[in-house]
Amino acid sequence: KLAKLVDQKPMVVDKLQDKKIPYATLCKTFALIESTTKRLEILEHITNLFRSVVEATDGDAKTLLQILYLCINKLCPDYEGLELGIGESLLMKAITESTGRTLAQIRKEYHESGDLGTVAKNSRSAQKTLFASKPLSAQQVYSTLKEIAQITGGSSQAKKVGKIKGLLVACREDEAKYLIRQLEGKLRIGLAEKTVLAALAQSVTIFKSRDKKAKSLEQQLASAVDVVKAVYSEIPSYDLIVPALFEYPVEKLAEVCKMTPGIPIKPMLAHPTKSLTEVLDRFEGHTFSCEFKYDGERAQIHRLADGKTFIYSRNSENMSQRYPDIIDKLPKANSKTSFVLDCEAVAWDKVKQCLLPFQVLSTRKRKDVKEEEITVQVCVYAFDCLFYDGKPLLKEPFATRRSILHQYFNEVQGEFSFARNIDTTQIDDIQHFLDTSIEENCEGLMVKMLDGEESTYEPSKRSRNWLKVKKDYLTGIGDSLDLVVIGAFHGRGKRTAVYGAYLLACYDPDREEYQTITKIGTGFSDEALSTHYTFFKDHVIDGPKRYYAVGDNGIKPDVWFEPVQVWEVLAADLSISPRYQAAVGIVDGSKGISLRFPRFIRVRDDKKPEHATSSEQVAEFYNRQMSFKAKDGGAGGDA
Ligand code: ATP
Repeated sequence: KLAKLVDQKPMVVDKLQDKKIPYATLCKTFALIESTTKRLEILEHITNLFRSVVEATDGDAKTLLQILYLCINKLCPDYEGLELGIGESLLMKAITESTGRTLAQIRKEYHESGDLGTVAKNSRSAQKTLFASKPLSAQQVYSTLKEIAQITGGSSQAKKVGKIKGLLVACREDEAKYLIRQLEGKLRIGLAEKTVLAALAQSVTIFKSRDKKAKSLEQQLASAVDVVKAVYSEIPSYDLIVPALFEYPVEKLAEVCKMTPGIPIKPMLAHPTKSLTEVLDRFEGHTFSCEFKYDGERAQIHRLADGKTFIYSRNSENMSQRYPDIIDKLPKANSKTSFVLDCEAVAWDKVKQCLLPFQVLSTRKRKDVKEEEITVQVCVYAFDCLFYDGKPLLKEPFATRRSILHQYFNEVQGEFSFARNIDTTQIDDIQHFLDTSIEENCEGLMVKMLDGEESTYEPSKRSRNWLKVKKDYLTGIGDSLDLVVIGAFHGRGKRTAVYGAYLLACYDPDREEYQTITKIGTGFSDEALSTHYTFFKDHVIDGPKRYYAVGDNGIKPDVWFEPVQVWEVLAADLSISPRYQAAVGIVDGSKGISLRFPRFIRVRDDKKPEHATSSEQVAEFYNRQMSFKAKDGGAGGDA
């Protein structure tokens, strides 16, 4: 496959003036990617686009960076917090005003297609224009999108509409469709991050070795892809990686793009388990440690060499404004040098000197928290040290990272503690430790590999070297699921004034779609039902989004919603079902997986819809359940 890529000529880009890349070239690639689900084909299309851009601009890193951001529908790294996500009503206004159609027409078509992009495209092509505008360049689209995202303050809506109209009138063919989707922040063409990284590595490597023989190039490509993926996991910033890739040989990339305080890494995640015996089976013959699994919010704390401190969430959002108190008190734990700590911020009852559940923490504002107004106190539980005194520690064994943490930081009662741990292989001791963790308001245990190669820190990976054991696991399917609310059913009887049940979906990051998994009507208090109704009635949309996988015979709710909220849900069982689409194609060719007896637990507002339980995880839960049933001599699902 790589050889084929090398032999291929990049598509010819009709350059506009000043090395400008036509936006139409990108849109052609988007359409090609959208038309297939084959990973390798997608990789070829995106590599071809990047190669063409690099050739046409004679290796201009800035242009490639902008094009890459357009492909992944972002404007900058996540931690900078600049996002698109323009609301539908604003976009409809811009489409109406720039195409001369009525709002009623736009709404009707949107209801039919579920895609405002397609509505914009059709509206543009139905429009007769006397003078053709200059073609849009990709660079111009990128900078205008950035300007739009930065507009704040008085009459910002009108200013945004003005800029959107300016772009729309210049759109031809598919451009309006993709432009509107980008403005919504919902391009969703089925382009996975790992594919973008591979395309980036390949296109720049091919460009830099233009005169060399293809044979050696093949090996170079494979290793360049590995290097770029590894570097990105330590320093997830295209702003730094793209220019460095042009400037330095790829073998040097890991040296110049090293983990740096101030740039959050994607956190390591844990695998769920269903029993302590499963944990012991996995870790047999290894040393491991059991820690309390605190019930708070993940906090990656970065202290820079100049003393500035930043706190990042599980999703790499900058949370420093939410926790001024942590930043203020941190010097008591360590005031000496730069570091990155992986921690859980947990609500703390100062009077009773005990931990409080996550629900209490979630009442704290997300931004602009003033220290004097704080009512919910927070204690930081540090469980890992990823960088200390100028040195990245990711590749060190956990035992080393933990002893650095314990050696160089001081515990401060109610403010900064180390995660409680025991290092034992005795199941009775572990069971007792698990019970204690629950008594102390924790969720259960995290069990971690302590020594050797398998105990390094694996950014962004849900690793088998970290297992979680939750109290709820021991019944039900092994873990709770975090699912996206995409629709609702009108309530009856006592519930007539609210939605009576909801439709939930998991997320497939490769296909970039939400797949239906269950209808849920249990676990809600009257108060919760009314809160959800008030929240969701403002997010009703005319029909299902084009990236909602519902299936032809699927369950259809009475109302559809924007994907805006994630719910934690417990279930008794998983089964194969023709009426749902979760993990379709993984366990069964046409049927999906559904939940039996789902129960609402809580809203997870620390998770974005894209961070919901993935289709792959759902399939894994199902397979594990089946293997447990097989062991118990039970039968399969109820397909
Ligand atoms: P959930 O939080 O529902 O378990 P998740 O997908 O957010 O799911 P997991 O990988 O499943 O994350 O569980 C790990 C989470 O548990 C971490 O993100 C962290 O916030 C929290 N946590 C609490 N205590 C610890 C600990 N001692 N070590 C690692 N993570 C911990």
